[in-house]
Amino acid sequence: MRIEIINTGTELLLGNTLNTHGAWFGRELFKLGLRISRQTTVPDGDAIRESLQEAISRADAVIVTGGLGPTSDDLTREITAEVLGVEMMMDEAALRSMEAFFATRGLPMADSNRKQALCLIGADTLPNLHGTAPGVYVPPRLNGKSNCAVFLLPGPPRELYPMVHQEVLPRLRALAGLESVNEALVLKFTGIGESSFHEHVDEQLSRIPGLEYGYCAHIGEVDLRLIGNEAALAQGRRIALEHFESHLISDDESSMEKTVVRLLAKNKMTLAIAESCTGGLISNRITNVPGSSEVFTHGFVTYANEAKVGMLGVAAEEIALHGAVSEQVARAMAEGALKVSGACITVSVTGIAGPGGGTEDKPVGTAWIGLATRAGFTSAFKVFHPRNRKDFKLAVSQSALEAVRRHLKSLG
Ligand code: AMP
Ligand code: MG
Repeated sequence: MRIEIINTGTELLLGNTLNTHGAWFGRELFKLGLRISRQTTVPDGDAIRESLQEAISRADAVIVTGGLGPTSDDLTREITAEVLGVEMMMDEAALRSMEAFFATRGLPMADSNRKQALCLIGADTLPNLHGTAPGVYVPPRLNGKSNCAVFLLPGPPRELYPMVHQEVLPRLRALAGLESVNEALVLKFTGIGESSFHEHVDEQLSRIPGLEYGYCAHIGEVDLRLIGNEAALAQGRRIALEHFESHLISDDESSMEKTVVRLLAKNKMTLAIAESCTGGLISNRITNVPGSSEVFTHGFVTYANEAKVGMLGVAAEEIALHGAVSEQVARAMAEGALKVSGACITVSVTGIAGPGGGTEDKPVGTAWIGLATRAGFTSAFKVFHPRNRKDFKLAVSQSALEAVRRHLKSLG
């Protein structure tokens, strides 16, 4: 099935707004085993005409985003009707729900909003629960010119995303006859590189009939993407896990932090974090996960030596003797956090982000990670991530979360 996306909006081409719709659609469609064959971005106004004409002549489904607003440069609806050769009429039900939308917010409805309830005859109106512009679905044969389905969708993500989940994906699934279509599986790994996959599993994966596979490397993480029928996915998964099970973060696209929160909850344990070089990033990642309040107690950002001493009780002499970036200080930070927070497990990080501050035996990119548990177990290990500051912080946070993940896994 050929699916094309047309993103409208002059702001996207001026660089004022990052066009995130293409990537988002790519991920959502991929979950159904579908892909985007082409993505086009056009300015507001008449430019959509030509792109739409071209797209419907090539594709089985075209998704247009943006330009459904009330202003004069929002012409998606009108131009689509012209290109497809269908008439428009006022959708009374859509008009009433738009009036209700304004009424419940105590706002007057402008006359220009009325055109947002214009519907292409024979098309479905897709309700918008989070804004005024309803979406439009023109089924394939209706357009009379090609056998292409057309979706017109609002630009703002908070209106677009729920509409896609409720109205668009089920229709695409039906159009594609998705019962027999391939599924997708993403296995997230950490602590191994793409080259390990190439070396250990590539050959075996390539021999599974009907399996398509690929890798995607991020900082501290490699995703193995499998696409195929159920049997092919099961086989691919088995081969990957035979080699790398201990490195598996998740098999349902859960992030490292989500996996850690889930494992903590499963073990009924709480976590506190003592951060120096990551400046709160690890705590930020953990608290991005819904439900983290059940398992996360404290995030100490002890950037200066005095903070490590004052908040965590690290001995000043220890810092003077071994340096802030040392095994001893990482251990002391983790143990101090344990004492102050009362959490079941703590992780600490202390490192040299650079660009300055490196020495011969502690070059930029060096970090020590400490782990302490209420069961009386403390450990520390060194990592080396010589990258720019932002990537260094991300890599160190990943190593720290991985240490927690491994510990929790070892508890069974
Ligand atoms: P609309 O009025 O429907 O054209 O869309 C209005 C708003 O949606 C814009 O101001 C953007 O903030 C957002 N938006 C539209 N298209 C995109 C896109 N492709 N990616 C990200 N945001 C977008
Ligand atoms: Mg727009």
